[in-house]
Amino acid sequence: MQQIRNIVILTGAGVSAESGIDTFRGGGGLWEQHRVEDVATPEAFARDPDLVLRFYDMRRAAIQEKQPNAAHTALARLEAEWPGNLLLVTQNVDDLHERGGSRRVLHMHGEHLNAWCTSCDIRSRWTGPLIDRPACPICAAPTLRPDVVWFGEMPYRMGEIYAALREADLFVSIGTSGAVYPAAGFVQNARELGAQTLELNLERSQGSHWFHESRLGPATEVVPAWVDEMLGGA
Ligand code: NAD
Repeated sequence: MQQIRNIVILTGAGVSAESGIDTFRGGGGLWEQHRVEDVATPEAFARDPDLVLRFYDMRRAAIQEKQPNAAHTALARLEAEWPGNLLLVTQNVDDLHERGGSRRVLHMHGEHLNAWCTSCDIRSRWTGPLIDRPACPICAAPTLRPDVVWFGEMPYRMGEIYAALREADLFVSIGTSGAVYPAAGFVQNARELGAQTLELNLERSQGSHWFHESRLGPATEVVPAWVDEMLGGA
């Protein structure tokens, strides 16, 4: 591990699964009884905003009841103790990395605990429901939507992510199915630029063949074990 200095970590729903937050593709492609197309697209929001707002209100309330697990806290420890650069990119819209102690988290798919005003374009911290069309705290317009990147929308901060991948000596993907692009392509980018690539997942992901190594098991076991190894068994 001596030659590794810059690490980019990508996490997905699997890292929060043992905290009791459903993954996306579990349950036969249904996400809490809804088809993705009915709740996670701009078209769905235009067609039936009440359904979409109610769905996200439920998710927003639910995540606030959940607690970070050993995988989240291990990644926070790695960030605190790793002597080189580390960027944690998450597809998750929950805040369990932050509550687990991570300080620098890039939420490429947005955050449940933010609302985005489509009138003034400002994002505000938001923990309550949106279904009753509350006023934006900045401009007072009743036009807040979940600050979550829907299918067909551009993920956030891609320039920063690609810049970090260019410098990465090690790219690690944790608990993600490798089905949603552009995140699913990060392993190829990193590998083509010379990084070592490691997957930690319950089972092999769709892009598993791109990784130099796959370690299979629950995130609460494989992530702390890998972090211990990175920090020299400390
Ligand atoms: P996904 O559901 O497609 O894949 C989850 C992956 O996690 C699978 O490969 C599965 O094998 C693995 N997994 C399940 N339990 C695990 C465990 N205990 N330990 C380790 N791995 C485990 O999720 P994804 O790849 O993150 O997909 C994409 C989208 O789902 C993202 O856009 C994300 O925004 C959204 N999402 C987020 C949350 C959240 O914020 N917690 C929850 C559900 C979905």
